[in-house]
Amino acid sequence: MTNNNFDVIIVGGSYSGLSAAMALGRSLRDVLIIDNGKPCNRQTPHSHNFLTQDGQTPKDITMKAREQVEKYESVRFYNGFATNGVKTQNSFEIETQSGDRFTSEKLIFATGVKDIMPDIEGFSESWGISVIHCPYCHGYEVKHEKTGILGNGEYGFEFSKMINNWTKDLTLFTNGKSTLTEEQTTKLEAHDIKIVEEEIDSFEQIKGQIKNVIFKNGSKRSLKAIYARTSFVQQSDIPKTLGCELTEEGYISVDPFQRTTVQGIYACGDNTTFKRSVSNAVAMGTSAGAIANKEIIDEAF
Ligand SMILES: Cc1cc2nc3c(=O)[nH]c(=O)nc-3n(C[C@H](O)[C@H](O)[C@H](O)COP(=O)(O)OP(=O)(O)OC[C@H]3O[C@@H](n4cnc5c(N)ncnc54)[C@H](O)[C@@H]3O)c2cc1C
Repeated sequence: MTNNNFDVIIVGGSYSGLSAAMALGRSLRDVLIIDNGKPCNRQTPHSHNFLTQDGQTPKDITMKAREQVEKYESVRFYNGFATNGVKTQNSFEIETQSGDRFTSEKLIFATGVKDIMPDIEGFSESWGISVIHCPYCHGYEVKHEKTGILGNGEYGFEFSKMINNWTKDLTLFTNGKSTLTEEQTTKLEAHDIKIVEEEIDSFEQIKGQIKNVIFKNGSKRSLKAIYARTSFVQQSDIPKTLGCELTEEGYISVDPFQRTTVQGIYACGDNTTFKRSVSNAVAMGTSAGAIANKEIIDEAF
């Protein structure tokens, strides 16, 4: 790469980052996308609920998006991990793991989040395959099947109520003593939703397809799928080190135009919202690209 200076550097080149790059490429901007190829949905066999791409593999959607973005000649790709970011007088500088340095007027973080797997053997192997985080993404494929929910209290109740729409063969696994209220318990029971309080030891699975939940007391329950919510951390610390504020929940704080609390830095996709979907990440990327371009125009005109 001969030129190390860009109008915009986008860190993260999955759905959100590629979408921002398309808006910027179409605005004649010199753009660098830095990406190390680890989107959060990489283990899921098929992606759903994104118009025109329903049922495609996550990789196929990315490859197609990348092919389309690569047609814009002012957009460059860099395969690698961005480790560091600093603000200089008139620009930002990003350093990669290999020690390469690039500068730009604006920065977009489309870095996603990292899901933290609970300490249950078989959980991470099944994540996105038969351990499901979202019914809109994967619920249809396991409709009417023997399904579990891993959760407790308010969250366990709300999730059970929701998933009852997709299957009536539902068990809530509280993995220890239930913290449901009496009213919630009665309501779940009235809808034939079973509640199991046994502590979980592991998920028995073959290639990510769950077969049984194994309990610490040695007993087990067969299942076709189980819904679970994980905690998360930001995949990249750079926004925080550059001074971008995070919300209480740990998302990068952005305004409706994807602007962070630091001027010239934007964020889009999963790193900014609990509303995780390919379509939402793409929409936010378009906004981030457009606003970064507009601010460059405003400053120069
Ligand atoms: C298991 C699972 C299944 C899902 N299934 C669906 C589905 O069927 N339908 C749907 O609509 N949504 C689905 N989602 C949600 C969807 O995948 C996300 O909303 C979407 O991937 C978010 O896109 P993103 O670009 O914000 O982040 P990601 O897709 O997570 O991409 C972030 C990118 O940034 C890169 N990156 C991060 N930090 C750095 C760094 N420092 N340097 C270089 N690169 C970096 C990563 O390598 C990665 O490529 C699923 C999510 C999960 C977890």
